[in-house]
Amino acid sequence: MKIMVLNCGSSSVKYQLIDSDQENALAKGVVERIGMSGASLKQSRFDGDKLHYVGEILDHTMAIENVLAVLMSRNHGVIKDKNEIDAVGHRVVHGGEKFEASVLITREVMDIIKDCIDLAPLHNPHNIKGIQAAQRLLPDAPQVAVFDTAFHQNMPQHAYMYALPYSLYRKYTIRRYGFHGTSHRYVSHIAAEMMGKPYSKLRIITVHLGNGCSMAAIKDGYSIDTSMGFTPVEGLVMGTRSGDIDPAIILHIMGQEELTLAQANTLLNKHSGLWGISGISSDAREIIEEAGNGNKRAQLALDVMTYRIKKYIGAYTAAMGGLDVLVFTAGIGENSPVVREMACKGLELMGLKIDPVKNKQAIKTRMEISKEDSKAKVLVIPTNEELVIARDTRDIVLGTKPD
Ligand code: ADP
Repeated sequence: MKIMVLNCGSSSVKYQLIDSDQENALAKGVVERIGMSGASLKQSRFDGDKLHYVGEILDHTMAIENVLAVLMSRNHGVIKDKNEIDAVGHRVVHGGEKFEASVLITREVMDIIKDCIDLAPLHNPHNIKGIQAAQRLLPDAPQVAVFDTAFHQNMPQHAYMYALPYSLYRKYTIRRYGFHGTSHRYVSHIAAEMMGKPYSKLRIITVHLGNGCSMAAIKDGYSIDTSMGFTPVEGLVMGTRSGDIDPAIILHIMGQEELTLAQANTLLNKHSGLWGISGISSDAREIIEEAGNGNKRAQLALDVMTYRIKKYIGAYTAAMGGLDVLVFTAGIGENSPVVREMACKGLELMGLKIDPVKNKQAIKTRMEISKEDSKAKVLVIPTNEELVIARDTRDIVLGTKPD
C-alpha cells in the first residue's frame, strides 16, 4: 500500500509517501511558512532527487495540493495519479482520555479531536486543518489518526494525577497525558527485539531528545510514567522549553514583570531551556560546540539538561523496581555521545555502564553502547514516527490491529 503520512503544524506540513510493503519512503518533504511570504516546499525522493520550490502557499489545503502536484509531477514525482494513495495517516498531538490507540477518522472521531482543542490549542487545530484538507483532496482515501498521547493512556492513576484539587481533574481533565508516544512505542519495541526478549517482560526507559525532549518508563509492555505532562512543557530541559520548574516561579515572574498569560506562555515555551540558559542557541550542536570552546553558559545548559535526564533515569528505575534497558533516540539522543555519556555518568552503582568506544561509534545507527558487564543495557535506536503512522494506518485500513 502507498500511505501518505502528514504532520501538520501551524505554518508547516511535513509529509512522507511510504510504501508500507517495503516500509520505505518513496518521497519525503516539508512545506514551510504557510500563509507567509517566502513559503516553500522542499522534497527529497528515494533516489536522491531534490526539489526546492518557493511560491505562494496560503493555507493547509493549498500546501497539500502542492504536495500532491509534486508527488505526481513528471520530474520529481513518484506516482502518476493521486488515486494511487491508498490511505492517509495523520499525526494528531492530543487525543485526551478518549484514545488509547490509533483510529479510523469518522465524523464522531473528528468531533472528539475537536473537543481536545482546549487541551492542545497550539497543535490540534492545525492537525484538524490537515485532516480536513486531506479529506477534501483525497476523498476516496481512508484517513487514520495516530495520537502522541495514546501510548501513555494506560498509565496508572497515581502517575497521571497532579496533587491539585480533584475537582479540576473532573472539570477540566487536568492530568498528565504525555507526548512523543509514537516514538517511545517504536523504539521500545525495537529495544525488545534487540534484547531478544518479550516486550511484555522488560523494564525499559526511553529517552527521546529532539527539539522537544521526553522520557518514558515502560514496564511489562505499558508506559507507566512519562516526563511530559498536561502539556509538552513539563519534564526534561528542551531546546526552548523549561521542563520542570517550581510552578510558583511563574506566578512570581508574572507579578514582577507584569507579564500577560500569553507572554508567560512564550517565556516557558520559547525563551527557556537550552536557549534560555545559554543565551546562544536552542540547537544542541551549537551548545555542545560552544561548551567545548569553554563557554560557561553553554556548559551550564548542558549540565542542567543532562543532570535532569539522570534524575529521571533514577526515578523511573525506582518506579519500575529495576531497569533492563535504557534507550536514547531522536536528534540529540541518536547523535550526541557527549549528552549520553553525561546523562549516564555516575549511574554505574545502578549497574549501568556505558562503553566509551561504542558510545562514540553510535551515530544515527541502531547499536548497543553498554559494556559487556553492564546489568542494564544501553541502546541507541533511531526513531521513525512516520513509519509507525504508516503501519498503524495500513493495519487499520486492512482491519488488522496495530500493536
Ligand atoms: P524534532 O523534535 O524537531 O523532530 P530532532 O529529533 O530532529 O527534532 O532533533 C533536533 C535536535 O537534535 C536539535 O537540538 C539538534 O541540535 C540535535 N542534533 C542533531 N544532530 C546533532 C548532533 N550531531 N549532535 C548533537 N545534537 C544534534
